[in-house]
Amino acid sequence: MNFDFTERSLDLQAKVSAFMQEHIYPLEQEHTAYVEANPWQHFPPMESLKQKARQAGLWNLFLPKGYGDFSPGLTNLEYAPMAEQMGRVLWSSEIFNCSAPDTGNMEVLAKYGTPSQQARWLTPLMEGRIRSAFLMTEPEVASSDATNIETSIVRDGDDYVINGRKWWSSGAMNPSTELFIVMGKTDPNADRHTQQSMILVPKDTPGVTVVRPLRVFGSYDSPEGHAEILLENVRVPKENLLQGEGAGFSIAQGRLGPGRIHHCMRLIGAAQRSLEMMCDRVTKRTTFGKEVSKYSSIRQDVAKSKCEIDQARLLTLAAADKIDKGGAKSAKDLISMIKIVVPSMACGVIDRAIQAHGGLGVSQDTPLARFYSYARCIRLADGPDEVHMYQLGRNTIRTYSDLV
Ligand SMILES: Cc1cc2nc3c(=O)[nH]c(=O)nc-3n(C[C@H](O)[C@H](O)[C@H](O)COP(=O)(O)OP(=O)(O)OC[C@H]3O[C@@H](n4cnc5c(N)ncnc54)[C@H](O)[C@@H]3O)c2cc1C
Repeated sequence: MNFDFTERSLDLQAKVSAFMQEHIYPLEQEHTAYVEANPWQHFPPMESLKQKARQAGLWNLFLPKGYGDFSPGLTNLEYAPMAEQMGRVLWSSEIFNCSAPDTGNMEVLAKYGTPSQQARWLTPLMEGRIRSAFLMTEPEVASSDATNIETSIVRDGDDYVINGRKWWSSGAMNPSTELFIVMGKTDPNADRHTQQSMILVPKDTPGVTVVRPLRVFGSYDSPEGHAEILLENVRVPKENLLQGEGAGFSIAQGRLGPGRIHHCMRLIGAAQRSLEMMCDRVTKRTTFGKEVSKYSSIRQDVAKSKCEIDQARLLTLAAADKIDKGGAKSAKDLISMIKIVVPSMACGVIDRAIQAHGGLGVSQDTPLARFYSYARCIRLADGPDEVHMYQLGRNTIRTYSDLV
């Protein structure tokens, strides 16, 4: 593995960093106040920030080489440090058109969409004109096993008719969201992994009801939000199916690989910034006649955090490198490893930073509370920790069991 970044990546890293310093960090407090006071509305400076990023060539950086004209040409390894920087301000990814769940949805459309599906949905997503949501999880079944999904997708003449209830559909509350990628079953009697299909559903299709936004630790995560959605006799043309009947499970696997690595890269950025904030804060406060930074327990917390972040970053870069060299399938164990390691690492580091900040750490005056909420949620989203351990444990036993 060679983790030396290319000239191009170094140049873009410097540009993303400068852009964030000039345009994003100064707006953080204003953004927090705005989204709390105005749920489901766009932060007014957002559009002009997106235009600026696009003009600066900092646009769609996530889409890896190999997607032809759609891709700006970076490898996952080249993109990793940029995603890390974006993770330092959670709402900044959208400014570079690199935010979840759109990145995963764009990859699905780029990889599996027909030319007409791409013209209708991928182009406006790549241009940042619309946003999208991914509807897999259902309240009625344990959705960490995707084969449990019960939403039905039934062929009727030239259409498919969809019925089911989804929840935790991230981005569905966003006023710019126009597309839902829905996973359901076309053939409940087929083999366990070919029962599922994915279908494109415009949000305004009759029969689609956004029932309610779900809160995360009391916050709406506005303007994206996470919705509960009812699908009642939702009728879409047969051309909206992705790939073909029975391809849903394998598309989901393909989608979640890159999505997981992006979350991990962002979380490393959030953890790194939390550590920097912690180091700064402990030099600014004194208790019992001593600067807080001088206490051994604080130094241990800082040291542990530094070790854990650097370990997690190297593992994530190794996963990115493996995906670049052999595809997401070849990197599946490393993707499980980072999904197990990084969100928990981030929870621990951010928790220590919160502690060192005292009451300030849980307030809205620093990003720490939102970082914690994000990290904690990623221990569940895109597969809970235990599911990745279950699979990684199985694969590891298979690999090593005959060697002794
Ligand atoms: C903030 C947030 C955003 C999300 N965004 C989306 C989205 O955009 N689209 C979408 O479709 N879903 C989304 N999700 C849903 C998420 O992917 C699911 O919550 C997750 O897959 C778990 O499914 P579940 O909630 O049904 O839990 P269940 O499947 O009921 O699992 C509950 C718990 O059981 C345990 N468990 C399960 N399997 C095993 C095992 N093999 N070994 C040991 N323990 C096990 C784990 O502790 C697990 O957390 C989001 C969730 C959150 C919190």
